[in-house]
Amino acid sequence: MSRLVVVSNRVTTPSGRGGATTGGLAMALAAGLREYQGLWFGWSGETTPQFSGDLTTTRAEGVTVSTVDLEEVDVQEYYNGYANKTLWPICHYRIDLTAYDRSFDQGYERVNRRFAETLRPLLRPDDLVWVHDYHLIPLARELRRLGVTNPIGFFLHIPWPARQLLTTLPRHRQLVQALFDYDLVGFQTTDWLAAFEDYVIHEAKGGVGQGGQYSAFGRTTRAAAFPIGIDAKEFAQLSQSSAAAKMYDRMAASTAFRAMIVGVDRLDYSKGLEERFLGYERLLQDNPELLRDVILLQIAPISRDGVDTYQDLRARLDALAGRINGEFAHTDWSPLRYVNRNYRRDELAGIYRAARVGLVTPLRDGMNLVAKEFVAAQDPRDPGVLVLSRFAGAALQMKDALIVNPFSPEEVAEALKQALGMELGERLRRWETLNHGVETEDVSAWRDNFVAALKASRGVVGAGAAAEPASTSA
Ligand code: ADP
Repeated sequence: MSRLVVVSNRVTTPSGRGGATTGGLAMALAAGLREYQGLWFGWSGETTPQFSGDLTTTRAEGVTVSTVDLEEVDVQEYYNGYANKTLWPICHYRIDLTAYDRSFDQGYERVNRRFAETLRPLLRPDDLVWVHDYHLIPLARELRRLGVTNPIGFFLHIPWPARQLLTTLPRHRQLVQALFDYDLVGFQTTDWLAAFEDYVIHEAKGGVGQGGQYSAFGRTTRAAAFPIGIDAKEFAQLSQSSAAAKMYDRMAASTAFRAMIVGVDRLDYSKGLEERFLGYERLLQDNPELLRDVILLQIAPISRDGVDTYQDLRARLDALAGRINGEFAHTDWSPLRYVNRNYRRDELAGIYRAARVGLVTPLRDGMNLVAKEFVAAQDPRDPGVLVLSRFAGAALQMKDALIVNPFSPEEVAEALKQALGMELGERLRRWETLNHGVETEDVSAWRDNFVAALKASRGVVGAGAAAEPASTSA
């Protein structure tokens, strides 16, 4: 069997449990690689005065994890710069927050080259290479330049922006062209795939053929949607662990059996936290009978604190939370509990299970795994209700959630009211359908579908290196 080589900006140990600060990407990959006995390569998160390409390698649960340190200037230009100040906002439809600087671009290209040079000697002839996310779009191009002919796939975990937004980015063509060095490009949903297709046809003047083949820039690749899932069975088990039960009891006691609404998100402007707070405020304003009977627990660990936009958002949220509590609190009740901590996954599962409503209202999200975790953690005899933004990729699959426009406080308030009052019969019906989807379209299905398509795409398309043999070797 071919070895699977996963490349992502950051790596985490593959146990997939515990208290690590992990985003959706890390959790999904940890769960996926455990069975595959593969290699996971990425940045260590550490800096070094002079880039050396020296690897730190460990083995855990059958997975070899190799990391490399980057220079401080790399972190500033590539990670904080092009990845988090340029690509993240533009892919989340925030051109107002998109910063572009030539040095970011140069740092991005440099780090991708360094990754390729460090990874190349580790590759074996029959390896399948699977590159993850927006940090590493040019990696296949750099590997091809070094003579790598292995099948290389790319998966984008975040949205692909509408053409009209993407074309505001200087050198957008180079960015998109780099995708055509992959054999397979995966998006979370058909919406993001359609936005990519729109660019290929109308901006790159390319074409779309049979079986998801896309041609442009003199090359052909295959692109398709592969909606990511969670390790649903494991998460459901975690929700019944002793740590989850303890957390469940704590929540029940501390909310004094009031109905709890829960939100769990990295503190990021794409998550719609301000809009969410305003929707909750509207619920309290419009429904005075709910005062003292409902609590919103918003867990939002601090993220990317080195970027000004995130510090500003944090300050605004602190003020808004204070205002809402000041406006409605009584001596024995405050409506909003706003927490900036990380929790272990088993504790998180207990928190989800103790909630009557899961409130997941990003303004734009590639998929959103919290929505799936919330469903997997529910008590099958008495499940809570999911309120989900129509702008999360997950909304295309999770149609039995209460789907809302997160920009409308009225809609959010109405959905919350409906969720809080929903009869057991309807809750069961909705949850069973949602849970069936979460269980069947899980992380293993996602990984297997992508890997099968990557193997098949090489047979069908012959893209990337085959289209333009590499002229250099290292
Ligand atoms: P993103 O990848 O943009 O952060 P997702 O919803 O897809 O958003 O994934 C978030 C992941 O991070 C989920 O697996 C969630 O459980 C985890 N997570 C979010 N907040 C916390 C927290 N406070 N403690 C522990 N894990 C968290």
